[in-house]
Amino acid sequence: MGESMQELGRIYWTRQGLRLAYSAVMVWLAISVMTALMPKESPAGGAGPSSAAEVLRGLADSVIAAVTLPGLAVFVLFILAAVIGAQDVRRRDPVRRFTRQQRRDGMARADGRCELEAGFGRRCARPAEHGDHFYPWSKGGSTSLQNFVAACTRCNRAKRARIPSPGQQQRMERRRRDYLPPSSSVSVGERQPLP
Ligand SMILES: [Zn+2]
Repeated sequence: MGESMQELGRIYWTRQGLRLAYSAVMVWLAISVMTALMPKESPAGGAGPSSAAEVLRGLADSVIAAVTLPGLAVFVLFILAAVIGAQDVRRRDPVRRFTRQQRRDGMARADGRCELEAGFGRRCARPAEHGDHFYPWSKGGSTSLQNFVAACTRCNRAKRARIPSPGQQQRMERRRRDYLPPSSSVSVGERQPLP
């Protein structure tokens, strides 16, 4: 039995934060390099660099000094991303394909219609052709009815292996209240525990 998706917010925002931090550090790195390459005023009348080799050496030194800190930050982010990626792989459900029964139940639950979002939080109107993992299989999503969403070909393609946002999850559960019988659960999403 996997974990339900109450903690989807934490998972989603951790990864968004990492992505944002990576972009910020890349900008920091670029600015540092450009600043280091900017020509510096040599002291008037003083002993400036006497040869081209010295100029280049000076430039290389200042570039290395400038990229040390942002470079370290890139390295740390890289390690964090690698740890998260490795955990996703360890979580993977050994079964990737939904069983016939899960597919039948999931499609019946959705009344054969795509359950994904068609803009402004509305439900897509097209007929469902695929059983999709709401929380992506490649990121550790369970191959279970709890993680099954009915999808049309277009939505299935557009969704890819992105982790859904907490807002998408909330809206899907709200939409499900409209078409599921009151007795059945509207909650969606399940992730495998770490083995
Ligand atoms: Zn659709």
